[in-house]
Amino acid sequence: MKRLILAGGGHAHVEVLRRLGLAQRPGIEVVLVSPLPLTPYSGMLPGVVSGHYTYREACIDLAPLAQFAGARFLQARITGIEADAGLVRIDDGSALPYDALSIDTGSVPPLRSIDGADRFGISVKPVERFLEAWQAVLDEPPARVRRIAVVGAGAGGVELALSMRARLRRAGRDTAVSLFGEAPDLLPSHAPAARRRIRAALDARGIGMVFGHRVERVAHDGLRLSDGRTAEAQWIVWATGAAAPPWLQTSGLALDADGFVAVDACLRSVSHPAVYAAGDVATVSRHVRPKSGVYAVRQGPPLAANLLRALAGDTPQPYLPQKRTLALLSTGDGHAIASWGPFSTGGAWAWRWKDRIDRAFMARYAYA
Ligand SMILES: Cc1cc2nc3c(=O)[nH]c(=O)nc-3n(C[C@H](O)[C@H](O)[C@H](O)COP(=O)(O)OP(=O)(O)OC[C@H]3O[C@@H](n4cnc5c(N)ncnc54)[C@H](O)[C@@H]3O)c2cc1C
Repeated sequence: MKRLILAGGGHAHVEVLRRLGLAQRPGIEVVLVSPLPLTPYSGMLPGVVSGHYTYREACIDLAPLAQFAGARFLQARITGIEADAGLVRIDDGSALPYDALSIDTGSVPPLRSIDGADRFGISVKPVERFLEAWQAVLDEPPARVRRIAVVGAGAGGVELALSMRARLRRAGRDTAVSLFGEAPDLLPSHAPAARRRIRAALDARGIGMVFGHRVERVAHDGLRLSDGRTAEAQWIVWATGAAAPPWLQTSGLALDADGFVAVDACLRSVSHPAVYAAGDVATVSRHVRPKSGVYAVRQGPPLAANLLRALAGDTPQPYLPQKRTLALLSTGDGHAIASWGPFSTGGAWAWRWKDRIDRAFMARYAYA
């Protein structure tokens, strides 16, 4: 019997599992390897921070989904891949051979060479650890954390700052929240209309914005910027982008310049045809797109189809990702801002729309 290993329960793999369950192909042993039984859905994470959802509501339960797919769920962490030998290494020291491997393990926080960053800052990943720390901030007396700094002014950082501010306000706390970005403006990948609207939303909620300067040093009471200015903060959150898992370096797989798995338009490794990859961990060499949950979700159906084709001995089919996707950014207080290409709009209706989309997404994978 051929063995397919699904490494990680990320956004693309949950759809692969659903489709495997619907297809019910006998003759394939499927093993899902993931360190935790719950996998968070990125679209709802800002809503967890703002208090609209519980963490459980924003997570997909992998064990029942794997059961529906006829897959074995192995709760473990992958520590390495030997692509030439067709082996996956697990954190208990064992090695699992595969006929086909699909990797959807996400990204890791970028290594920071900034003085004090690891000691005094917290990264948004791993998500579980970040949310625990956020709960601790909410539980502490307000005087302990008077100012919060969010470093990174992409979509993740912007939504986090807005969601935190909204949650704190609802709790009657006037904790200051500021956003810091190295680029001259926020959301560099969005059009000017969306940037204007989001800047106005941040401004209206009293969120400080400092762009165009790198954070150079972090201490227990704040941070120092590249222009010499300092900013007071008792809690510093890093939302500064995605890096590749370090264990890929020794895998033998062809990687892009940043260490992510290089795949072709079929989501297949350009060096090892038995290996597929999707989501943040992969870079589609000919169609590079931002590392975001939206693209990871979109890769689920073509990845599932190509894995089934490959195991049946058929030729995988190329997939062309969309150039533009609709972004719905929540402000944390019942509004959302929509950004699509050059267009932007927003309001309470946009939040209700986002909420419906996200809940419908979760309902697809609820097999518990
Ligand atoms: C706070 C926050 C808010 C965000 N908001 C948005 C948003 O609103 N919209 C958006 O599009 N994107 C958002 N993002 C980005 C988004 O989370 C990622 O782009 C997305 O999660 C990538 O999906 P993925 O499938 O590649 O990996 P992930 O969702 O990270 O899933 C990886 C899976 O692999 C497992 N895993 C990890 N390491 C291993 C290992 N060594 N072995 C086995 N399994 C492993 C994990 O447990 C997890 O189940 C946000 C990110 C953060 C941190």
